[in-house]
Amino acid sequence: MSRKVAVVGGGAAGMMAAIQAAHLGAQVALYEKNNRVGKKILATGNGKCNFSNMNMDKSAYYGSMAAFYDEMFSKFGVRDVIDFFSQCGMLIKDKNGYLYPRSEQAATVLDVLRFELDKCKVTVYTDMSVESIRIEQSDSRNSEKNRENSDENKRLGVITVSEDSGSNEVKFYDAVILACGGMAAPKTGSDGSGFKIAKALGHHVMDVVPALVQLRCSETFFKSVAGVRTDAGLTLYIDGQKEAYERGELQLTDYGISGIPVFQFSRKAAYGLLHKRKVEADINFLPDYTDGEYEELWKTRWESQPSGSLEQFLTGIANKKINQLIIKLSGCGTFDKVSDIPAKKRKKIEDLYRSLRVTVCKTNDFEHAQVSAGGILAEELTLDLESKVVPNLYFAGEIIDMDGICGGYNLQWAWTSGALAGRAAATKH
Ligand SMILES: Cc1cc2nc3c(=O)[nH]c(=O)nc-3n(C[C@H](O)[C@H](O)[C@H](O)COP(=O)(O)OP(=O)(O)OC[C@H]3O[C@@H](n4cnc5c(N)ncnc54)[C@H](O)[C@@H]3O)c2cc1C
Repeated sequence: MSRKVAVVGGGAAGMMAAIQAAHLGAQVALYEKNNRVGKKILATGNGKCNFSNMNMDKSAYYGSMAAFYDEMFSKFGVRDVIDFFSQCGMLIKDKNGYLYPRSEQAATVLDVLRFELDKCKVTVYTDMSVESIRIEQSDSRNSEKNRENSDENKRLGVITVSEDSGSNEVKFYDAVILACGGMAAPKTGSDGSGFKIAKALGHHVMDVVPALVQLRCSETFFKSVAGVRTDAGLTLYIDGQKEAYERGELQLTDYGISGIPVFQFSRKAAYGLLHKRKVEADINFLPDYTDGEYEELWKTRWESQPSGSLEQFLTGIANKKINQLIIKLSGCGTFDKVSDIPAKKRKKIEDLYRSLRVTVCKTNDFEHAQVSAGGILAEELTLDLESKVVPNLYFAGEIIDMDGICGGYNLQWAWTSGALAGRAAATKH
């Protein structure tokens, strides 16, 4: 007899779980609280959906589940994702390893998933929020005589609330997959309700913080440099210890720092702040130079342009707004004559371009985060992503304590974990 599987959450992980379970013959019901599935997918990759990356590496992932990187991705990795979407009819574009649909429309990814759900007869309930999961009580299974009523065989009741009528309903399943997402971009539906459901069943949740998110800084000068985008090297310090280095396009905003290099280490900053540590970012506006080259650059410049104002002298070094900021921070004036600037102040100017230390006081909130870090701990899950606390309950996607850097790694995790949970839920004996 085919197993009855419920999937809670119609995001990337939930849809993949439902499809894989249905491919293996399960009768699958997918519950989604929004009026449509896959809302978040449409927002990914600036509407183009960077759905995976050819350059998979363990170092792209954080969280307790990252320790099981090999076990997870060897069972359903990038190749499997490419095959899956290709079999769904989607052409794929590889941009330096970053994978997109050939159409460059995130809607294509969602459409092929929706068509596949339909094709393999997954029953999709939209506008249906799952409130809780109930473990079947011993006396509710009298009709099924042949099955032992051990914990292992207990069915799980999915308690839903209709977003339209507010009416409650319970339906029992052989397995339930929780794929409710984390807390990032709550407008797309992932508001953390999955964590509440899991906690009520006895699970522990690693502190959930925003990740792939902008960082707010205490310095008041940010307003003067808002809008600047520049190549920079960024080092993250926590309690004075170097924690990460990233190179890329830094975006300065009126409240702090943004851009891919900032996103990449934002989860470390978020946990640092959560634990009340001192979090700083050190900005190098001229990251291409070795120490020797840097010294030479300035030596030649001071010698060859001794006349004129400091503003003229610095023109061409960096963005105009950065130059103005550095003049101010060095204690000099725009119109100061270069020849009058003492050695100490010259050195200060040189150092500021290479090392502008700013204090991170906050991350932006979940609204602005692309993912959330934290979630269901790996130690409470089997390698099939089944709960060790509640048999027949599975997890998939961002709800698990695993998050990736920018570049398609988070969606790859959603596909991988969804496929593993879906297949296991459909075939457990
Ligand atoms: C702006 C943005 C851009 C991004 N770009 C990229 C990118 O280019 N590449 C990449 O790899 N990653 C990207 N990400 C991250 C990626 O989208 C997510 O990591 C991934 O979609 C998570 O999938 P998920 O299925 O686990 O969760 P979600 O996509 O959050 O899906 C969870 C679903 O569960 C539903 N749900 C929640 N609770 C309940 C409940 N109680 N009952 C019923 N339904 C419920 C929600 O409505 C939602 O539809 C981006 C994220 C954002 C916000």
